[in-house]
Amino acid sequence: MERGSTPRELGPKLNRSAGDVIRFLFLQGEVVTATQSLTDEMIELFAAEIGATVRLVDPGEEEEAQLQARYFEEDEDDEATGELRPRPPVVTVMGHVDHGKTLLLDRIRSANVVASEAGGITQHIGAYQVQAAGQAITFIDTPGHEAFTAMRARGAEVTDLVVLVVAADDGVMPQTVEAIDHARAAEVPIVVAINKVDRPDADPNRVMQQLSERGLVPEAWGGDTIMCEVSALDGTGIPELLDQIAVVAEVEELRASPEGRARGVVLEANLEVGRGPVATVIVKRGTLRVGDPLVAGSAWGKVKALVNDRGEALKEAPPSTPVQVLGFSEPPSAGDVFRATVDLNTARTIGEARERRYRVAGHAPSPGAPGAKLEDIFEQIQRGETATLNLVLKSDVQGSLEAITDSLRKLERDDVKLSFVHRGVGGVTENDVQLAAASNATIIGFNVRPDRRARELAGERGVEIRTYEIIYKLIEDIESAMVGMLAPEFEEVVTGEAEVRAVFRVPRVGAVAGCYVREGVITRGSKVRFLREGVVIWRGTITSLRRFKDDAREVQSGFECGVGLSDFQDLKEGDLIETFEEREIPRS
Ligand code: GDP
Repeated sequence: MERGSTPRELGPKLNRSAGDVIRFLFLQGEVVTATQSLTDEMIELFAAEIGATVRLVDPGEEEEAQLQARYFEEDEDDEATGELRPRPPVVTVMGHVDHGKTLLLDRIRSANVVASEAGGITQHIGAYQVQAAGQAITFIDTPGHEAFTAMRARGAEVTDLVVLVVAADDGVMPQTVEAIDHARAAEVPIVVAINKVDRPDADPNRVMQQLSERGLVPEAWGGDTIMCEVSALDGTGIPELLDQIAVVAEVEELRASPEGRARGVVLEANLEVGRGPVATVIVKRGTLRVGDPLVAGSAWGKVKALVNDRGEALKEAPPSTPVQVLGFSEPPSAGDVFRATVDLNTARTIGEARERRYRVAGHAPSPGAPGAKLEDIFEQIQRGETATLNLVLKSDVQGSLEAITDSLRKLERDDVKLSFVHRGVGGVTENDVQLAAASNATIIGFNVRPDRRARELAGERGVEIRTYEIIYKLIEDIESAMVGMLAPEFEEVVTGEAEVRAVFRVPRVGAVAGCYVREGVITRGSKVRFLREGVVIWRGTITSLRRFKDDAREVQSGFECGVGLSDFQDLKEGDLIETFEEREIPRS
């Protein structure tokens, strides 16, 4: 039985009517209609009632697997026969905010896009291609590691090379470090652009020093990282930067066969008035042509038109070309892989099979990256492989970050290595979760907490976030995981979240925080944590709670309340109050 079947589908399969299913469920206290999707439990209950056994399958799963096997395997063959030719590198620009990523992208584009004969107008389609150093280079137009890692988390490896922008007057900053970690996690080479060298306070040497401490040593100092001094403002050094990108691309031997059916990645997509669903894709291999049937996620269709970043209509797009595709049934999702298919019917059948599957299962699962999460590490060790445990480590201060790293390093054995995909100070963010999902990592937080978006995304992506307040407990847990005895996780269910809007002093009571309950419910006596930008600053219990002048037992979301702070006086406007309960989740 497919998950999410309706009474009308379930009944007849078991020689009953839809009405029988509805009646039975009604007696169990569930009111459903004939065309409403049933939960797994409802289907199993009904089957048990009539003495049948059901096996639940994800809708479309088997169908899709069969189709893929039938049509895509053939494709692999014709790709193998195609001759590999050099293809342009696909470049993403990353770096700290305000270091000049956007201006650099604009400057490169305006200086190097060859004006078309028709005088085409620049179109922002999410990526553009320039001619430089005698070859084409494709730039992804969305700078920063957020989009980059979100794509990776969906299994789309599109970037060949990262340009790391560091402002010469500001030096290495937190997002510079994040960008380095994200690029490394993706095993993508880095070319450094030391920007803003036109500024009088520019100090490129200091930047090189700071980068060297992070393992990026300039060639001039005997390392192997290419660093270019540039100014996005006046254009200094940009031709050299492009030359260096071309050199790295050559060393990387980026090749693809332009023959065979096209395959690639969706960068972005939306619905445009008068044009319908429009998706910008980058072709990774093969050539995409007008008229080709194709499928991306559950979207399918036939290419009606291909438009490049200069607004020109193309007949075909070879590897590494960014193009807008018109003709999809619906906008696909960023990060979806697209494939041209033998015929339209195949595209439609695969698209529709996936649609049914996603409807029940949520979006497509991300493919596994090398290395393992905490809960899988022992299994990997037992298989006799050298196991690598991937971790994203977030902590309240630099000191604890170093201390924890050192202690964890001591746990390494011949058969178990640790890989710190990212280490940083501050709360657990959405970005950390994306990175963990893309690199198959577990997030460890010490004295820090995930924010709401991070928590939600972790749930969706199946990323485990373990938070600790005592270092030895953290170390002990990782050690246990390595011997297959990971302690049960105490899931902390966040029951309420309130934002501090003002702090008052009340005679005899002390400080009282005037709060607005944003989510859930705040209850007197519940366990509580105070957070400032994701970092835990205090934990304890709520001893007094008031609504207006009266004592309250609990306050619901959408209301204001006063929270007595007893022995903690240091709360500020903008801090968060999080109440929680602990529940043990048994390990399977
Ligand atoms: P992003 O946040 O990294 O995308 O940074 P932007 O490209 O928006 O640049 C931030 C600010 O720095 C803007 O005011 C730019 O004009 C300025 N800027 C960028 N590059 C340079 C440069 O090479 N020299 C100088 N003097 N200013 C620059």
